[in-house]
Formats: sequence, C-alpha cells, structure tokens
Amino acid sequence: MTRSSVLGYPRIGANREWKKALEAFWAGKLDESDFLGQLRELRLQNLRKLQSKGIDVIPVGDFSYYDQVLDTATMFGLVPQRFPYSGGPVPLSLYYGIARGTKDATASEMTKWFNTNYHYIVPELGDRQPELTENKPLQAYREAKQELGIEGRPVLLGPVTFVKLSKGYRADQFGDWLNRLLPLYKQILVELEAEGVAWVQMDEPSLVTGLNEAELAALQVLYTQLAAAAPGLSIMLQTYFESAEHYSEIVKLPVRGIGLDFVHGRTGNLKALAQFGFPKDKVLGAGVVDGRGIWKASLLDQLALLKALSSYVSGDRLLVQSSCSLLHVPVTVSVEDKLLPELKGALAFADEKLDELVWLAKGFAEGEASIQTQLNSCQKALDAIAQSSQRSRSDVQKAVAAISSKDARRSAPFAKRYEAQRAKWSLPLLPTTTIGSFPQSAEVRKARQAWRKGEWSKAQYDAFIRDQIDLWIDLQEEIGIDVLVHGEFERTDMVEFFGEKLEGFAFTQFGWVQSYGSRCVKPPIIFGDVAFDEPMTVIETAYAQSRTARPVKGMLTGPITIMNWSFVRDDIPRERIAYQLAYALRQEVEALEKAGIGLIQVDEPAVREGLPLKQQDQAEYLNWAVKAFRLTTCSEEETTQIHTHMCYCEFHDMIGSIEDMDADVISIETSRSHGELIHSFEENTYPLGIGLGVYDIHSPRVPQVEEMTSMIDRALRVLDPKLFWINPDCGLKTRGREETVAALRNMVEATSIARSKHAVHV
Ligand code: GLN
Ligand code: ZN
Repeated sequence: MTRSSVLGYPRIGANREWKKALEAFWAGKLDESDFLGQLRELRLQNLRKLQSKGIDVIPVGDFSYYDQVLDTATMFGLVPQRFPYSGGPVPLSLYYGIARGTKDATASEMTKWFNTNYHYIVPELGDRQPELTENKPLQAYREAKQELGIEGRPVLLGPVTFVKLSKGYRADQFGDWLNRLLPLYKQILVELEAEGVAWVQMDEPSLVTGLNEAELAALQVLYTQLAAAAPGLSIMLQTYFESAEHYSEIVKLPVRGIGLDFVHGRTGNLKALAQFGFPKDKVLGAGVVDGRGIWKASLLDQLALLKALSSYVSGDRLLVQSSCSLLHVPVTVSVEDKLLPELKGALAFADEKLDELVWLAKGFAEGEASIQTQLNSCQKALDAIAQSSQRSRSDVQKAVAAISSKDARRSAPFAKRYEAQRAKWSLPLLPTTTIGSFPQSAEVRKARQAWRKGEWSKAQYDAFIRDQIDLWIDLQEEIGIDVLVHGEFERTDMVEFFGEKLEGFAFTQFGWVQSYGSRCVKPPIIFGDVAFDEPMTVIETAYAQSRTARPVKGMLTGPITIMNWSFVRDDIPRERIAYQLAYALRQEVEALEKAGIGLIQVDEPAVREGLPLKQQDQAEYLNWAVKAFRLTTCSEEETTQIHTHMCYCEFHDMIGSIEDMDADVISIETSRSHGELIHSFEENTYPLGIGLGVYDIHSPRVPQVEEMTSMIDRALRVLDPKLFWINPDCGLKTRGREETVAALRNMVEATSIARSKHAVHV
C-alpha cells in the first residue's frame, strides 16, 4: 500500500498564533508556563490536522520555538562562547538570547535557508564540547503518541548539513566536527529505537549543492555508523530544493530510505534514476507535491510521474511526499475570500497540499478512477487559471518578446555618461545621499491606518504625506545632503507598494509565511501578465522636487527583487516574468524622466536570493537578472543618473554581475562585511559610481564622525574618489527621527573632512 507523508508543516498557525505568543512572551505579557502551554496547543492542533486529513507518515519535531537550526545547535549545547552557559538543557531565555541578542551579548547571525526566504540562526561551533542536552526528537515523538496516538516520524537536521551551515571552524576541521557530533546523533537514534520508533527523517539538503571528496567520504562513514548504531530504526535520508548530487553514492548508503525532490529537482533526479536505478531494498520518498510553491499540483501529471517511478521501486516502497517542508507556504487558502475565483481555485497552500498527497497516494494505489472527482475538479481549476484573461495580455507579451530580443544597453558608455551627468548635476566631490526611506514614525503608520480604515479621506492622507515630505526635504537641506529623497512615507513595503499598482498581482488576506523568528511576510502573488497601468511614484517625487533646488532622486524597486519576494506563476519561466516586470518598471522610469526627475534609483536588494543552488546554473540566472535590470534602466538620456542599491548579502563573488548592471551609482550595504568587500576591490577595482555604506542603520546608535572618516579613508585606498559616494548602508525607515538627523549630520561632517583630504588627489 502506497503511503503519504509531508516533511514538515507551518508552525505559525492559521492566525499567526505562534507569532503572537512569541511576541507576547518577549514583551513579558505572557509568563513562561502560559507561553509553553499555548505553543503546545498549537503543535498538537497542527498534528491533529495532519492526522484528520489522513496523512500516513506524520513528521514530529519539526515544530520550533524559533528556528529548527537553532533547536539543533542548542540540543547539542552549542551555545556561542559570549553567552554564559554551563551545560545542560538550554533555558528559553538563553535560547532567545542567542536568536535575538541580550543587553550583554549580540545575537547570532542569521542567514537564508538555501534559496528560500526563510532565515535560520547560524550555529557557532567555537570551542565548546558538544553534548546531548536533551533528546528533542524523542520528546516530540512521545508527545504525539501519548496525546494523539500518532506514530510520528521524528525530523532531525542531519549532521553533514548542520556542520556545513555552521561557522566558527576551519574547513579542515569539518571531519573533526562530524566525529564530535557522531556519538550524539547515535545516542538520539539509539534512544528512538529503544522507544520503538520505526522511521526517522534526517534532512540533508546540503546534498543538493554537492560535497567535496572529503565531505562525501565523511558522509559515508557517518551514515554507515548511524545505521549500525540503531539497526531497528530506519533512516530516511532526505534531500530537497533540487536534485541530489552524488546520487550513485547516496543510494549505496546503508540507510533504508532516500527522499528526493521531484518538483524542483525533477529532471536531475529522474536522470539519475534512469542511469543508476534504485535499490530494491530501499524506500523512495518521492517529493511530488511542491512544498514551497502555492499552486495546485496537476494530479494527473503527478500520477503519471508516480507511475514512472514505480518502474524503479514497488508501490509499497514508494512514499508520496511533499517536495520539502510546508514551512514555506501559508496555512490555508480556504479563508481567502477576496481573490478572483479562477486564482483562488488554482491555489494550494499547506492544508490543500495535504489533501493532494492523500489523493495521489490513493489514486496511485487504487487506480485513477478512485479519485476521479478530484482529478476532474483539479483539471477544471487548472484550465480556468490558464484561460484567465489576466494571463494573456497580448500587448505585454508582444512588447516583452520584442525587447527581450534586443540588447538592453544605455545609449552611451559610462565614461560619456559620467561627463554629461557631471555637467548637468554639478555635484561636489564625494556626493552625499541616503538610500530612500526616512523614519516611518508611529504617526506615519497611524495616518495610513486611518486612511485604510476610511477614517481619513484620500485628500487628508495625501496632505499628510506632503507634510512629511516637506519636513524631510527641509531637514535634508539643512543637514547639507547633496542628493535628496522624498522619504517613501506612502509605502509600507517596497514590493507590496508596486504590486498593488501594477497589473498581474494579487494579495491574500492571511497568506503569511515565516521569514525569520516571529517575523512573517505575506508575499504578493504574481499570477498574470505584469503590466504598467499608470505612474506610481511620480506625484510624490515631483512634489518633493518642487520643494527644493537640489536634485531629488526617484525611488523604485527593481524587477528581480519584486519577483524574488513574491510567489510567482509557474506556467512561464521566471526569466520571462522578470522581463515583464522590467518592461513595466521601465515605463515608470520614463514617467519620472518626463516629470523632470533625472536621478532614479532602482533597488535590487534581493538579486542574490534568486541564485540557483547549483553552481552550474548560476551564470545563466545572473545573466538574465542583470539583463532585466538593464531593461528597466536603459534610459535614452545620457544625463539620467541611474542608481541602484543592494544589501543583506555577500557580494564579493558577484561583483562582475554588479558591474554588468551598468548603474551609474550603486550603494552597497557593508556594515557586516566591510573588510571583505574592500578586499575584493583591491583585486579588481570598481569602475562605476559606488557608495559603500559608511554606517550601520540596523542600530539606534549614532555613529561618530571619526568612525565614518576612517571607513571612507579605507574605501578610498582602493576606490576612485571621483566615483565615490557617501551614504548610510540601507534605508532609514526603521530608525527614529532624532538619531537619524544626528547620524546624518555626522555623516556630512565626515564627508567634508574627507573632501578636504582627498581633493588634492582628484
Ligand atoms: N529604498 C529602500 C529604503 O530605503 C531600500 C530598502 C532595502 O534596501 N531593502 O527603504
Ligand atoms: Zn538596503
């Protein structure tokens, strides 16, 4: 009998109960035992859901109080050295201290979980000797069994991926760390075996990015030993997000199951199966329902896929799974009542995916006819969205086909533009500017609420926004900034704002997904052809410009960032979606130019997030991502100065692509990797305008003049002063007014010191 399973389920609850409980607990509004009680209830509720939907193999232990990687690190007592800790189970206060920082110690770094929008806490291995402080998977198993009679499949982050994602050790200590963790993993498995647990899911997503020889050898030794330690317990070695590398080696491991992603790694995994077959004695965990996408699966296609897989493995050894944990999708579509019917009908969030898995398992085991009703309604829904008029805008499609075949280049090379822009804008040496947003004070948020609720008229709200613009234009002039911004007061979110004004987007009411810690995001859905309707930023920008003689810089979110922070349709390639966005945004660039705005910043903080996991696919992505940016910004006017901004990631390995974007000026966040970035410019200097953030905006601390002058001096050792800009390292919307003004004053003072020092060299 073919069975169904999922690799994990969203922990946040249908109404973000999880987020609310965490934040209330942090604020001291919920005591620890009430908090634990609420989370336990939520966890059990989730399990009941899986149970009542009829999922056969239910994951346990994927629930978390913050992040599953942090859970693993603290289970092993791997608390960063700077936090006081003397072994044993990590108390909640310390657990959250590591995640969020305390007054005495900074938080651990967080970073993106593979190519998703989920962020995990990076374990710091350091000098502490790991110990098993508690067997969390065992606790989770016991709870599910006692409370609900569920024979769960405990989920563990596998040792290879855990160590690979950690920091605080040298590459040659990789094997050493695995050896230190091995006895701990063994103990977990032995205790699970003693409890009578049948299967454990060991997540090793690092297997899709590939291991070097030593790592692969370590993996082989490790899993051989783990399997031998608990022979009565079956290990499902789980990969996801792409096809598994080293397939022929992995299938030889003495584990009893291999989990493969047949949605995002379909081609590669099918190829490997065709080439090497699948061992007769193992279970194949077949990820056939997209765990991170929001669209209904085509049941017919996935049944056909399962049939194809059954030529390699018998039906009772086939497990119908989600491609990855459902952590990456919202809880349920059923509560949405404002979506177009053809869109709503085509969506499947976590709960709807549970149904799909159950149907597929049944349809596969008992024949298509057994799920005929579901097959029919699925087909109807998929046909309806495919035929939606929003998906066939021939104007957009024609225009995009035409421009994407042309090379997107500016009319003049940078050197020529530089001179033209210098003459037109007559900016001083080392011009100062900011990244776009100014503090979104409580007052600004209140005003927006009042307008959204209908308590304020549009005219009242617009007048309020104009007042904010006035205030900050005056402040910027008074502080002495050279290139001003309007402050982005009318925007809540840099993607949502444009999504609401462009066509082809939809917004859910409750479609929240965990991004990091208690922070959840509600990504827009790009479901149709993207089209420009009317100017989106011109009114506020032109108004700001009318209030000052200094140049005001227009502010847009770039095509790749909008795409990477949205859920996107899957009937056309991402590349084409990017070009549609580029074509629409380019019309906004033109509208700004027409309104007399000649400096335009197109933010692309999320370019790196879309980078494919496999190295061999990365160049192609960067190619079209850069092209989409250039399509957006390839203004005819030489004097139009295109700015861009990037943050939140490592850039040193993609400087070449950044240069290819051909922006006249880029501002890059560097507070966290300043040294590294400067270092990469030593080898290859940057030939276009560039501003390396001179202070960190993530902290309320006002930076001193000297700190900034030394930042500037360091940068100017490797970068040309004629091309260098001075700016904070990101938008200021999360900061307070006082500290922002004080910091910018110091920045301007640091600039004037730097100008007198460096003028002689120009
Ligand atoms: N222009 C945006 C702002 O200033 C940029 C935000 C970002 O980099 N994420 O807020
Ligand atoms: Zn930024």
